Amino acid sequence: MQRRCPICKKLVDSATNTEFPFCSERCRLLDLGNWAAEKYVVSEPIFNEDDDEVGDTPNSDDTKH
Ligand SMILES: [Zn+2]
Repeated sequence: MQRRCPICKKLVDSATNTEFPFCSERCRLLDLGNWAAEKYVVSEPIFNEDDDEVGDTPNSDDTKH
């Protein structure tokens, strides 16, 4: 099976390349970097919402009387 590397568009063969679908480790890391950078931007507002969910734990005080 052959696919084009998403980074440099070179043809990559899944049978011979361990970094498939990337042509090399460099391109794999580059893609990971792109993804991480996007994820960081997207998750920033979500982080602020997380602060409001602190009281989400079950009430264990119910067991003692
Ligand atoms: Zn590549």
